[in-house]
Amino acid sequence: MTDYSRPPSQIRAFDCFIDGAWQKAQSGETVTRYSPAHARAVSEVQRCGTADVERAVQAARRAFDHRRWSARSGAERAEILLKAAALIRERRDEIAYYETLENGKAMAQARGEVEGAANIYEYAAGAARALHGDSFNNLGDKMLGLVTREPIGVVGLITPWNFPFFILAERVPFILAAGCTIVCKPSEFTSATSLMMAEILAEAGLPDGVFNVVTGEGSTVGQAILDHPQVDMVSFTGSTAVGRRCVSAAAGNFKKLGLELGGKNPHIVFASADLEAAADGVAFAMAFNSGQCCVSGSRLLVERSVAATFEAMVAAKLARIRVGDPLDLDTQVGAITTHAQNQQILAAIEAGQAEGARLVCGGKPLQIGQGAFVEPTLFADVAAGSALLRDEIFGPVLAVQPFDDFEEAVAIANDTVYGLAASIWSKDIDTAVQMGRRVQAGRVWVNCTLAGGPELPIGGFKQSGWGRETGIYGVEEYTQIKSMHIEFGARVPWVG
Ligand code: NAD
Repeated sequence: MTDYSRPPSQIRAFDCFIDGAWQKAQSGETVTRYSPAHARAVSEVQRCGTADVERAVQAARRAFDHRRWSARSGAERAEILLKAAALIRERRDEIAYYETLENGKAMAQARGEVEGAANIYEYAAGAARALHGDSFNNLGDKMLGLVTREPIGVVGLITPWNFPFFILAERVPFILAAGCTIVCKPSEFTSATSLMMAEILAEAGLPDGVFNVVTGEGSTVGQAILDHPQVDMVSFTGSTAVGRRCVSAAAGNFKKLGLELGGKNPHIVFASADLEAAADGVAFAMAFNSGQCCVSGSRLLVERSVAATFEAMVAAKLARIRVGDPLDLDTQVGAITTHAQNQQILAAIEAGQAEGARLVCGGKPLQIGQGAFVEPTLFADVAAGSALLRDEIFGPVLAVQPFDDFEEAVAIANDTVYGLAASIWSKDIDTAVQMGRRVQAGRVWVNCTLAGGPELPIGGFKQSGWGRETGIYGVEEYTQIKSMHIEFGARVPWVG
């Protein structure tokens, strides 16, 4: 019986999963992952290369072309997705433990994410049965028009390290509901739970070759998936910089792309808000997952008349957040996931101080065991154009920006290359909803933040991405549309 309250005494080793079988990488090499909260080796995955990607793509191609999965009815696909959901629930604590060990996030949160993932598989099971096309019965007695949706084919799925299991769940069941096959490449830092998902899907009865997982570095494994001519679509979630590489690779082979990229997401707090609720929401959305969420609230726009009061309220909340060992179930915020990310966050804080921004609270690394932790940090009086206001820091760092009126708030909120999410705080319905309509973001929260669920679609405006995941839109994304004209009766000859 594993003791989930401490790091494991042994490294857990995984093979990659290709064509329904566990396999070693051809390189014979592995990648070891150290827990960022404990600086201890916890897992080991295969260091795959282009030859392994080739095997995985061929397996997925065969599974698709032989219609092993796409020929199954929506009801049959749903049955397997529901079994997978039940198995996820059974293994919740084990999955959450490895998610925490590899990512550094609080285990209580990870357990919630695993349950949320099971819930998404259940929703997608329904979507597999609900997916349908359209018909045109208005083309005259002799003609019927049908619009059908067909699975797009082999999907390359490249995922990041911040929500390895949850982001996987926001994509895999929808891709499977559509009837596609998958070559998945998780982040090299957090691959364990994607491999566990392969095990779960196989146990649930998914045919061989439909879900394959290759592990290793993005520059080799991810790039080989992007470049492969027999991959019909790539769903990429990660940084805008690598998203750009996806676009240039797709220019070579015209594969379809789904891109979920970075964000610099504003909170817009009006004087008409419930300030106590807003301060709590702001603290939550900046510190949750150590600020390593694409949708983290990473800019704080506050109406000037309440800016000073609100700044003090947020600072008081931030000081009370329980940052600590993520295996402790009372911990709210755990470690920073990678060394590079930790350096980036600390450098952003240092640069902010160097350019004269006022540090309201936080600003330092926290000494908790051997891990990498950062205090939730709030800045004010930040110079216009500062990187603190412009760049995605991907850490628990926030800066207050006062505004004088509605139009100025719109202008500041939209003054970014990103357009992923925005949170609006006001009890005045006109102000709140009109701002919701004006802000350029794929997800808008009114008097709440980071709310989710599989029913609503997610995705970004502007440089935050292309396409949508989850909801019925999330299944449709992995289909292509065919239109069919069907003529009845005798043909009117063209050649007399
Ligand atoms: P990243 O772009 O470095 O890596 C993402 C994935 O791409 C990893 O699996 C990585 O191995 C792979 N990769 C790296 N180089 C590649 C290449 N040349 N070709 C193909 N694949 C390659 O991102 P990250 O550091 O893992 O995650 C953080 C970023 O992800 C942040 O910018 C964040 O905003 C973004 N993100 C966005 C969303 C969203 O839904 N919009 C969700 C989570 C994270």
